Amino acid sequence: GGSDQAATVTSSSALPSRVRDLDCDDNIIYFIKKKLRVWCRLPSGQWESGVIQSTSGECAFVSLSNGNVVKVSTVELLPANPDILEGVDDLIQLSYLNEPSVLYNLQCRYSKDIIYSKAGPVLIAVNPFKSIQMYGDDLIAACRQKLLDSPHVYAIADAAYNEMMREEVNQSIIISGESGAGKTETAKVAMQYLAALGCGSFGIEHEILHTNYILEAFGNAKTSRNDNSSRFKSRVVQLADGERSYHIFYQLCAGASTNLKERLNLRIASEFKYLNQSGCLAVDGTDDAQKFCKLMEALDIVHICKEDQEHAFSMLAAVLWLGNISFQVTDNENHVEVLADEAVTHAARLMRCNPDELMLALSTHKIQAGKDRIAKTLTLQQAIDTRDALAKFIYASLFDWLVEQINKSLEVGKRRTGRSISILDIYGFESFQKNSFEQMCINYANERLQQHFNRHLLKLEQEDYELDGVDWTKVDFEDNQECLNLIEKKPLGLLSLLDEESNFPKANDLTFVNKLKQHLSSNPCLKGERGSAFSIRHYAGEVLYDTNGFLEKNRDPLHTDSIQLLSSCRSELLQLFASKMLNQSQKQATSVGHMGVLDFQKQSVGTKFKGQLFKLMHQLESTTPHFIRCIKPNNKQLPGIYEADLVLQQLRCCGVLEAVRISRSGYPTRMKHQEFAKRYGFLLLDASASRDPLSVSIAVLQQFNILPEMYQIGYTKVYLRTGQIGAVEDRRKQIL
Ligand code: ADP
Ligand code: MG
Repeated sequence: GGSDQAATVTSSSALPSRVRDLDCDDNIIYFIKKKLRVWCRLPSGQWESGVIQSTSGECAFVSLSNGNVVKVSTVELLPANPDILEGVDDLIQLSYLNEPSVLYNLQCRYSKDIIYSKAGPVLIAVNPFKSIQMYGDDLIAACRQKLLDSPHVYAIADAAYNEMMREEVNQSIIISGESGAGKTETAKVAMQYLAALGCGSFGIEHEILHTNYILEAFGNAKTSRNDNSSRFKSRVVQLADGERSYHIFYQLCAGASTNLKERLNLRIASEFKYLNQSGCLAVDGTDDAQKFCKLMEALDIVHICKEDQEHAFSMLAAVLWLGNISFQVTDNENHVEVLADEAVTHAARLMRCNPDELMLALSTHKIQAGKDRIAKTLTLQQAIDTRDALAKFIYASLFDWLVEQINKSLEVGKRRTGRSISILDIYGFESFQKNSFEQMCINYANERLQQHFNRHLLKLEQEDYELDGVDWTKVDFEDNQECLNLIEKKPLGLLSLLDEESNFPKANDLTFVNKLKQHLSSNPCLKGERGSAFSIRHYAGEVLYDTNGFLEKNRDPLHTDSIQLLSSCRSELLQLFASKMLNQSQKQATSVGHMGVLDFQKQSVGTKFKGQLFKLMHQLESTTPHFIRCIKPNNKQLPGIYEADLVLQQLRCCGVLEAVRISRSGYPTRMKHQEFAKRYGFLLLDASASRDPLSVSIAVLQQFNILPEMYQIGYTKVYLRTGQIGAVEDRRKQIL
């Protein structure tokens, strides 16, 4: 109830707060009348708990816990939970699930180093930024024997494992959260547990854990938000100040033996432009050379042979040397040629191609004119983009190849049951000051995951009601299908229109946004903005996107010429990468105007992303999901600091509160008949008859004149609409 009203009350954040008041607003009237404990929002925006002393009209005088009395408008008040519910394991146990209550509950636990909590079926993990005594063999053993009764990643992994064995259904553990929230660490904890379960029977747990070293070295980098952040591959060529490229580059430069260095023409990291542009070469407390030794060990353990290791290292060195290739402008139209220096020689040698061909591919673009193919010289910017696109492609392909090798090697000694548990460590919803194409893709993926999440909860909920004989049709759910339609519908959806504009030579960012407004304005999730901007109403809030650069980012920057170059290289890996690329882009004979070139169809970045996302969702849909939401309590990567605003924003973005609301939207208060009878049975005026718990429940509800539409009686539980338990609970308090 009253959600629109709620949205106007909490206006301190840029995000709409549909979820501010997860219980009915009516409660607060009751609370005000009864002068119970409340949350009170001070002008600073902070919530403080207190007790209402008196009210006059729309205002209340609240005595805060620090002794001060403040006068606030009653719209700034929310009911607080009774003390006995302080720090409960599962947010669902809270009588009032408003934001201050949830924030306080998590904070209470966090201050005691209890970083895990449940929100219904979801595990919430608040990053401790320090090592805590919550892991290890003893705890794993306790969890296996079901002796661990508080929320934990182990328990989630255990549930996934048991369900896989029992139901013979594949499982997934979906971990989401902002950068630095602890997703990757959480994934490792889950793997640690599953590896321990495998002890003795699989024998590959040791190897599985070592894959982490490899994936981290090649997939993670130091960013401003996380010293060990899992990143997109664009980082190879461009770095922000103070950030680093992938760990592996620094590890290789620092740790390679003299021999290897010679074979790869390697220098120290500071001599490579791709690495030295950000002014940051080291991570505090990390020894890259030592990490390289560990990496080599890990590669051995997962059976990547020495020869393949050397191939992989030469690709890394090739990427670094490509970055050092420079151009000189030859005319006043900014056309360039490649500077024939050692960078070209080394890169060509490592790629095993002809240096002249490399230089040509980086400085010209072949086009068909009539029967002839002619080479058009590139401008400086085009040449730089071509070089960088090539470097990114090689690195991304190397990463994919490595993952493939690891998977292959793990399957070798397989004693596979054919069943699996997938762990998904995925970037969370993003909303910055400035949002571009990348944020749009990330948020689109999260929109899909959210739908997956909602549907799963809905299913659980439905099962719960049906099992308990409760009429389930009276429960409403929200869906985000409309937002997904906006983005992915064909032919009139954001991605399709973007592709159309990206292929149209005269289009620009402004024509694109006008097309959006023209074709999609009937969709309630799109909001046109001034100039070249638009907003999308995502489930987690409204995000303003700046279309500046959208078209360029959507075009695949890798030239056909570059792929041809790679096919001509004698490096087997590069040949493999090129042929994969050609296979992927469905070979299509497209005649390009009068030129009649047999070209392959290159997919746009957006369409490729959508395809990958669909593949992922398809895989996930055949599994039973388990959800973990990671929360970052501060931006300083420091222990002991809990910034309520920041946590709140993430709770909203990850949709946990919304989900709990969904899962309680019909009848949020649920109690087993036994529990209900034990707690309230003594209030019955007619206590003479000895009755079973179910009858006691009904009698209590009747005595308190709770209207029939306000509750349902299930076989095992009483289900109550929002706010109904208040009167009964209050009466109980008065008597005790
Ligand atoms: P994400 O993958 O979400 O970007 P990470 O998992 O890399 O974030 O975590 C960032 C940092 O936070 C880690 O390097 C570690 O220092 C700290 N951290 C995260 N989770 C934990 C944990 N459970 N225990 C201790 N430290 C943690
Ligand atoms: Mg990560």
